[in-house]
Amino acid sequence: MLPTTADVVVIGGGVMGASAAYHLTARGIKNVVLLEKAPFLGMEATGKCAGGIRYQFSTEINVRLSLLSLPMLERFEDELGQAIDLRWPGYLFLLDNAHDLAVFRNNVALQNRLGIPSRILAPAEVAERVPLLNLEGVIAAGWHDRDGLADPNGVVQGFAAGARRLGAQIFTETEVTGIRVESGRVAAVETPAGTIATRAVVNAAGPWAGKVAALAGVDLPIVPLRRQIVVTTPLKGIPEDFPFVLDFSRSLYFHREGKGILTGQSNPNERPGFDQTIDHSWTEQHLERAMWRFPLLERAGLLREWAGLYEVTPDAHPVIDGLNDPAGLYVVAGFSGHGFMHGPIAGLLIAEMITDGRAHSLDVHELRFSRFLEGDLVREHNVV
Ligand SMILES: Cc1cc2nc3c(=O)[nH]c(=O)nc-3n(C[C@H](O)[C@H](O)[C@H](O)COP(=O)(O)OP(=O)(O)OC[C@H]3O[C@@H](n4cnc5c(N)ncnc54)[C@H](O)[C@@H]3O)c2cc1C
Repeated sequence: MLPTTADVVVIGGGVMGASAAYHLTARGIKNVVLLEKAPFLGMEATGKCAGGIRYQFSTEINVRLSLLSLPMLERFEDELGQAIDLRWPGYLFLLDNAHDLAVFRNNVALQNRLGIPSRILAPAEVAERVPLLNLEGVIAAGWHDRDGLADPNGVVQGFAAGARRLGAQIFTETEVTGIRVESGRVAAVETPAGTIATRAVVNAAGPWAGKVAALAGVDLPIVPLRRQIVVTTPLKGIPEDFPFVLDFSRSLYFHREGKGILTGQSNPNERPGFDQTIDHSWTEQHLERAMWRFPLLERAGLLREWAGLYEVTPDAHPVIDGLNDPAGLYVVAGFSGHGFMHGPIAGLLIAEMITDGRAHSLDVHELRFSRFLEGDLVREHNVV
């Protein structure tokens, strides 16, 4: 039975919602209710993601989010008692043109200034690192050996179990269909199973965050964009430490998944929409390029493939903010395709805003909602 009142209602049971619920309860909020429309937690973007975690970003705010979030994943099993299959094989960005190399040199300078020992590898070093790849056209690579992978489902389950232990109530198959606003502030959340009176709502609805915001009359520019992944059957000869490799100019990536390879490629012609059926013509093009770059894949079978949704904002940065209109509506969404790794710190930051009136672990002024209205989008510091 749904409760009739809550101190905070969290909408969405992906990494953002689960992390927010855990950090709210850990900060002493007793009556936290998380509502998820799907039958299980973590079934949407989080469960469909590639699991990559990295420090190699091009904006200071993203690097700083990683500097706080990735150590939380390192402490995760101790703090929450849940294994998350954390691995650090490194991230290798293959670069094939002078423009991208110049951008990556600036990125590395930024990362080094913030204490991350990333660097640029010469082609011979790249060949030594990934001898299985066809390195045709590669002029250099961005490399950091302390980037890696973690299990998204483990992270969601760990946060959710931690939140439950501390008193949160979690309801699946419960879609939020309305947000009641009275006198300029949030008053209640409506679902087919009943209405919950509350003065604080966290919009952690990922690709649906725009729709959820609209329930409260807010125009939040987050759009869903389909992205696909293929996992191959086991392949002999892939080393344990095979890194997360990105063929940067092709938005094509690979990493080891079990004894096979997980690969994805972003379709530049994809249009925003909620369609999550697999586009088989794109799979064909993707696999053709994947086999060219990684010839061993010609020997692999297709084990699984799926489509999921990115949650994209106009400047590819998230919103982490408490709104003024309506007051009591908090947003932690719009991570634009790399939110899994920032989920731990994002949930803590939104919990700090609710319990203390402001986020103090990190200054996230740049990620405020009003930047879209002010035209003050997050700036790329490293574009040359
Ligand atoms: C193919 C792919 C690869 C990716 N790879 C990576 C990667 O390597 N590394 C990385 O860091 N990130 C990656 N991402 C991005 C990452 O998955 C997302 O940024 C992150 O999972 C977003 O988490 P979330 O909790 O905001 O969204 P979600 O996990 O989608 O959770 C939102 C939840 O809200 C629920 N919901 C929506 N509307 C309602 C409603 N009205 N009522 C109740 N519940 C509702 C949904 O059912 C959903 O479960 C990838 C994404 C995709 C699609």
